[in-house]
Amino acid sequence: MTTTPDNEEPWAATRDASWYERPDVHSDKSVHMAGRKAPRGEGVMSRCGRSILDENSSWIPERVPLGLRCRSNGCRQAWPTA
Ligand SMILES: [Zn+2]
Repeated sequence: MTTTPDNEEPWAATRDASWYERPDVHSDKSVHMAGRKAPRGEGVMSRCGRSILDENSSWIPERVPLGLRCRSNGCRQAWPTA
């Protein structure tokens, strides 16, 4: 199944904790916009393509505080604008 999620409700989430072995960000609680399914079924990729998201911590995009929003290319363009 490789359907694109374009006709689903957008959602956002923090990245999966298993990726914390790569602490390459200064903010440890960035919230990413959800993108496509990861190719091997590990979960859902962030829009910016840098993280597997934790689907158990999903956020309604409009409710994510500006300070927590991932600003990497991909996620940045996907956030709803007020
Ligand atoms: Zn992101």
